[in-house]
Amino acid sequence: MCGIVSAIARNNVVPTLLEGLFRLEYRGYDSAGLVVANEGLNRLRTTARVAELDKLASEENAMGHAGIAHTRWATHGAPSERNAHPHFSDKASKIAIVHNGIIENHEVMRKRLQAEGFKFLSDTDTEVIAHLVAFHHAKSAS
Ligand code: GLU
Repeated sequence: MCGIVSAIARNNVVPTLLEGLFRLEYRGYDSAGLVVANEGLNRLRTTARVAELDKLASEENAMGHAGIAHTRWATHGAPSERNAHPHFSDKASKIAIVHNGIIENHEVMRKRLQAEGFKFLSDTDTEVIAHLVAFHHAKSAS
């Protein structure tokens, strides 16, 4: 079962995100990841325990005032780092997505978005959301 944590605060939210993931760890998962916003988006992902994500965050001195975090229970795409959430769109550097559940029409959405030039970097259904948001964001900005 997936777990989702998000935080926005005046102080660094990385400890809050990790604390949330540690609390959700009992539910089971196959990979974990987070993104924090700090002069761009900084993403960390692993197929190991949340403790490993915590270690990566310390090593990279990850920090930011807003972030999202996820523990994944794979339904589409193998449990791997490239399939772990959060997902980005190649056409929007400020959009990161985490998701719970299944997108039933992801195959048709994937084909449509590929035809628009979006490049998929994972095997997940989730990634279509990142590209779809980027697509509509670009349209509304033009
Ligand atoms: N369907 C998504 C995936 O396979 C989300 C799974 C989940 O709820 O953790 O990545």
